[in-house]
Amino acid sequence: MRILIANDDGYLAPGLAALVEACRGLGEIDVVAPEQNASGTSNALTLQRPLSVWTAGNGYRYLNGTPSDCVHVALTGLLATRPDLVLSGINNGANMGDDTLYSGTVAAAMEGYLFGIPSIAFSLSEKGWSHIDDAARVARRLIEQVLARPPAPGHWLLNVNIPDRPEAELRGLRTTRLGRRHASEPVIRQTNPRGEPIYWIGAAGDAREAGEGTDFHAVAEGFVSVTPLQVDLTDHARLPVWQTWLAGSKA
Ligand code: MN
Repeated sequence: MRILIANDDGYLAPGLAALVEACRGLGEIDVVAPEQNASGTSNALTLQRPLSVWTAGNGYRYLNGTPSDCVHVALTGLLATRPDLVLSGINNGANMGDDTLYSGTVAAAMEGYLFGIPSIAFSLSEKGWSHIDDAARVARRLIEQVLARPPAPGHWLLNVNIPDRPEAELRGLRTTRLGRRHASEPVIRQTNPRGEPIYWIGAAGDAREAGEGTDFHAVAEGFVSVTPLQVDLTDHARLPVWQTWLAGSKA
């Protein structure tokens, strides 16, 4: 068993160390993580410059790129053997609903999935690592179970959000669908010391669709949210609508 572990908070993040420690004994572990915090970089690959890879004192490898770069470079050049499982996290904060589109944590796991490898993204529901060791034990148990009893043949992608609370206060696992958020808060305009306007991207909006069955709902109720993800962005439901519309249109 070979496990590749990446994240988006950077190779020094406590959540990465917790996930690596949680996986001890499960197999050969390789860590390839970004040099700096790369949260919110989605599936970006660095194409305009080369990437350098260094090895930290603890054996983790890190590179000056994105989470997707880490997994991409690991799978296509760095690792001698293809891993059986790709893990990402544990992220500092939730990745639920529409956040998953911007998430570097999810993207790192998705890169493994795109290469045909079962992959799991782990996130802690609140920032600050309060219950990171509890979350790591939850991650370990889930990983052990999917290894012992694979949920589906072939490859698959899971997005796991763990409530930030003591393990004893968790209510179990829930299979969920992604909820939705309202549009983000407006950008925050400030003035830099040279008198020029600068802008900070605003906070994510509140949950809009957070009902029963969603990731938001499960985590709010104290359950570990497990969402199976796919990558196909095709609007299958509206495909016939567009087929009809195009039939009446000129090329
Ligand atoms: Mn992050």
